[in-house]
Amino acid sequence: MNIAGIQSDWKVERIEFAKLTGERARSAGANGRIGIHGKTCSVDIARITIDGQRGYGSSIRISPEWAETLIGQRLVDLFDDLGRLKEEYRLQLEYPILDWLGQRFGKPVYELEAGTHFERGVPLIVPCYDTSLYFDDLHLPDESSAVALMQEQAKQGYDKGHRHFKIKVGRGGRHMPLWEGTKRDIAIVQGISEVAGPTGKIMIDANNAYNLNLTKEVLAALSDVNLYWLEEAFHEDDALYEDLKDWLRNRGQQVLIADGEGLASPHLVDWAIRGRLDVLQYDIIWPGFTHWLELGQKLDAHGLRSAPHCYGNAYGIYVSGHLSAGVRNFEFVEYDDITIEGMDVSGYRVDNGEMHIPASPGFGIVFDDELVSGLVKRSGWSKS
Ligand SMILES: [Mg+2]
Repeated sequence: MNIAGIQSDWKVERIEFAKLTGERARSAGANGRIGIHGKTCSVDIARITIDGQRGYGSSIRISPEWAETLIGQRLVDLFDDLGRLKEEYRLQLEYPILDWLGQRFGKPVYELEAGTHFERGVPLIVPCYDTSLYFDDLHLPDESSAVALMQEQAKQGYDKGHRHFKIKVGRGGRHMPLWEGTKRDIAIVQGISEVAGPTGKIMIDANNAYNLNLTKEVLAALSDVNLYWLEEAFHEDDALYEDLKDWLRNRGQQVLIADGEGLASPHLVDWAIRGRLDVLQYDIIWPGFTHWLELGQKLDAHGLRSAPHCYGNAYGIYVSGHLSAGVRNFEFVEYDDITIEGMDVSGYRVDNGEMHIPASPGFGIVFDDELVSGLVKRSGWSKS
């Protein structure tokens, strides 16, 4: 971000907070760790007014008392000399402020944050994958009907323009007997790979429900599948990942190792730099966008890949694609079909396994001013 264009008299005038609600297109079942994820979703947003203009975006860990201390502050003072929003404002306000800057300069955020690899003047189109394939089959006693159900769900995604799919595995970790659940994982991944076809990339995510040997059993059984990455097979451990990497190399099997969402090991990036894993997956809301810009550029320098985790936050899905302009080795937008009342994302479009990012100012997400004002009054707060 070039802060030279930020005028010194642009000051924070108002900060408002509201919780928007909505739902998934389809209820999501359990994963390797926890139970049913359901249909209901929400997005916490802040609306910031600077120099008479508004910006909107995700906001977490914000309080009215904290917001009050920002009123009257100069926008330019919230940035460091490198043009990054200072750490202490990020979780609360980085999205509303980036959106505001985009509105003010009449540019999409991806252009404000673009790196040297970014091609200007061309529509931004980013690979995406359908992340909605949970354990929705646990009530079905037999494997073949479980496979049929999960194939049907993947077909729904295919019909909505998806070509790449992430599948939850690890049924035998908690929700099913160990080997029966593992066998079912394998059959479901094979079944969905038929829906995806030979060019569709398949990712599997065990949410740490496997161990090293189970992981090898599953990967060996899936050697004919176009498996792109293996995510959170077990809790990250450099000795176990080193073994897994050696094993894959010796077999000549190409599968990327992905990890880093949730309570990731503080050593994870160092392990990746030492070749133990390939794809980093910190969350797009926490630690967030600016953190990802910094980290992603560091990962780029080491030939590592960036794939921000976005599950569970409908706002994160749309903003994460903007990162690809600043992070060369950006892999995928993690896409879940969620509708949030008052948040219009119709500028974004999924087609043929890619997300088309709108060239409209800011993040190109249109919030309903009146609806948000009502929510601010009823259940949110406002400081000015
Ligand atoms: Mg995951």
